[in-house]
Amino acid sequence: MESEFTQHLKQGEFRIPVCTKCGKKAWPPSSTCSECYSRTALKKVSNRGVLVEFATSHLRGHEGVFGIVQMDGFRLVGSFESADLSEGMDVRMIECGMKDGTPYYLFAPEK
Ligand SMILES: [Zn+2]
Repeated sequence: MESEFTQHLKQGEFRIPVCTKCGKKAWPPSSTCSECYSRTALKKVSNRGVLVEFATSHLRGHEGVFGIVQMDGFRLVGSFESADLSEGMDVRMIECGMKDGTPYYLFAPEK
């Protein structure tokens, strides 16, 4: 069965599971909390983060700029349209979705 997380992502909505009891964000997405084993529910979270590090990939089919983004309470790997970046800069998720069955998160520097 397709996860609720994926369903929202397909529509370009970034919602992640948050524990209904202790409020911890479940990342990677999970239906139970890793901390207290309570149920999680999808919540809209901030789309802002800080770029931890980034690299340019020249792998065929995976060309592009990728970076680790520290979000509020979790980290994810995002892609960027340009390599005009610096570590520690504020970034914002401008688009997300599913591409060939894989989630993608497109970020841009915060202006
Ligand atoms: Zn919990």
